[in-house]
Amino acid sequence: MYIVVVGAGAMGCLFGGFLQEKGHRVVLADVWRQHIEEMNTNGLRIETSQGERKIRVSAKFIHEVEGQPDLLIIFTKTFHTENALKTAKGIIGNETVVLTLQNGLGNVETIEKFVPRERIIAGITNFPSDLIGPGMVRSLGYGETIIMQAHGEITPQLEKVRQALNDAGFNCKISKEVFDSIWEKVAFNAAMNSVTAVTGLTVGQLGANPEGVKLARRIVEEAIAVAGKKGLGANKEAVLNTLERVFVEHAGHKPSMLQDILARRKTEIEAINCAIVKEAEKEGIPTPTTEVLCSLVRILEQSYQN
Ligand code: NAD
Repeated sequence: MYIVVVGAGAMGCLFGGFLQEKGHRVVLADVWRQHIEEMNTNGLRIETSQGERKIRVSAKFIHEVEGQPDLLIIFTKTFHTENALKTAKGIIGNETVVLTLQNGLGNVETIEKFVPRERIIAGITNFPSDLIGPGMVRSLGYGETIIMQAHGEITPQLEKVRQALNDAGFNCKISKEVFDSIWEKVAFNAAMNSVTAVTGLTVGQLGANPEGVKLARRIVEEAIAVAGKKGLGANKEAVLNTLERVFVEHAGHKPSMLQDILARRKTEIEAINCAIVKEAEKEGIPTPTTEVLCSLVRILEQSYQN
């Protein structure tokens, strides 16, 4: 397959690098000059628990990408999706399928401004990845990837994408319940990311703090109630159990939203807590705790953006 990864950061490089290794023709498209130049000159370095490998890749500025890919994987942060796709619009052909494994809500709706729903694949992945510096990512840990056509039908193109991701090591399954999984993940992220971002606590410090745990659980309950009202089967106990497990297993970790706040960068709060609040308003149910965390993170962002 000809695959273009739009947003070649931590996740885009991980997925694009391993797909390239499996023989696909991959172009990593980004906007960061130093990173692009480093990858073209010295290759992409990916560190996993098995060690470090160097992969020869083709990296380009997004506006320089040519040809119509069979698969376009969008891996920018959610707030860059629209701009990135505006630039990439010209390479999206009639057969191009667009895959999003980004966190948060509303990704399909944003992509749908550029591609019909029948050619969008949505999903989640819990493989971790960190961008260490230009040309280098680190992914320590294993996970799974769940995908589904956004319109809900299993198609040959979906199976082709699953096969490619699975062969590249991303433990990929097709699931008709993908939107339940997306809501479970957003409930988890709304709790863990926003509370650590506002308190400055690591995952383990939050887990050891009874008031913090109560707050995180409350956000999960609110988010899952919204999913339930929308007729989705997201499972509250499963998310609460994941929260408990992660408090212990990833005790030292600083979630991405906390890292973003510490580095005074924009966060994905709008696609996570604030998006849950918007969906709750449509359903006419209150989500007061999630709403406060949405406001607090916005306040922090505004405090250093102004
Ligand atoms: P990242 O910030 O490392 O990478 C995003 C990349 O997009 C950057 O290299 C940036 O330069 C690039 N970019 C920005 N604007 C662009 C544009 N207009 N055109 C092309 N490229 C552009 O982010 P990430 O950690 O890889 O996360 C990507 C998405 O995946 C997010 O939605 C995140 O929540 C989700 N996710 C991340 C992880 C993880 O462990 N990192 C795991 C699961 C899901």
